[in-house]
Amino acid sequence: MDEKKKIIVTGGAGYIGSHTVVALIENGYEPIVIDDFRNSQKAVVANLEKITGQKLSVHAIDCCNEEAVRNLFASEKPMGIIHFAAYKAVGESVENPLMYYQNNLQSLVVLLKMVKEFKVETFVFSSSCTVYGEPKGAISVDEGFPIAKAFSPYGQTKIICEQIIEDFHKSHPEGKMICLRYFNPVGAHESALIGEYPIGKPNNLLPFITQTAIGKREILTIFGKDYDTPDGTCIRDYIHVCDLAEAHVRSIAFLEKQNRGLLDAVNVGTGKGTSVKEMVDTFEEATGVELKHQFGPRRQGDVPAIYANNEKMQRVLGFTPQKTIRDSITSAWNWEKYIHENESSK
Ligand code: UDP
Repeated sequence: MDEKKKIIVTGGAGYIGSHTVVALIENGYEPIVIDDFRNSQKAVVANLEKITGQKLSVHAIDCCNEEAVRNLFASEKPMGIIHFAAYKAVGESVENPLMYYQNNLQSLVVLLKMVKEFKVETFVFSSSCTVYGEPKGAISVDEGFPIAKAFSPYGQTKIICEQIIEDFHKSHPEGKMICLRYFNPVGAHESALIGEYPIGKPNNLLPFITQTAIGKREILTIFGKDYDTPDGTCIRDYIHVCDLAEAHVRSIAFLEKQNRGLLDAVNVGTGKGTSVKEMVDTFEEATGVELKHQFGPRRQGDVPAIYANNEKMQRVLGFTPQKTIRDSITSAWNWEKYIHENESSK
């Protein structure tokens, strides 16, 4: 395999990371996974090998462990990095902000040191639309939208990480770097062998829907029905995780082609909004499963409606998401059934 095509994928056993590993292999890259499995399942590696039909290079290293990371970079000499590994639970970050700042910032700093020391050509950072905060008056948000103060330490780490990358890039302008700002990643690989594996009670809508439908949760509460939206429930931009994974590969390919350094931020979303009620209705219609649900009070901090202006992603990365909401829901449901079968056979 061509040495230049090696891509370090931190958090490669996690939800978005694992789907990106598949997409990288499908596009002729060689992913080198760094994941210490503190928030991911070891079984993901075997399932990734099943999907891709090849042995994976996986290193159980903490990204904050500079020496261990340096040794890996010295032996692999990757041409790129996709940095996913980070804590991401909003509630936990409120309870334990220092853990979030320490882990999410330090791991980034270590990786940026590697970019400089090993002249790693391309770098893609896993950011979030949370950097836009509550965009007053705006529903469709483009990258020019001002960065706001985040609602949680988790969100704040994304803002600070983008700032660190910006400052680093000023000192290292030859770096080719992109921050991808994800909207709401959902769904699972069509094989149903990998997907989102929430630890404890899910905060996110679709895992809560599928867990309720399978019987793990009693009932879904829709948070608020009196928003100023067509059906009164909140609107979000749900992007299929395989489309999101593809956006990472396109980012690496785009950066590779540039003959000078650059830093950019790109939204990754479908550009379409879907309401909570529409998600519930589409789930029932696509799966034929009745979903127990009720309406409850609004959740604190929820923005009524937000979706991506994804024009830049289409223009710069030449990429348009391919999957529908129905694809996302069906694949998430197949994945939930897979988890259920596996857990009940244990
Ligand atoms: N939501 C809901 N019930 C739940 C979980 C989420 O009604 O049990 C709603 C939530 O209020 C929001 C939407 O679903 O309007 C998406 O929530 P999620 O946490 O998945 O994404 P985020 O709000 O972070 O964009």
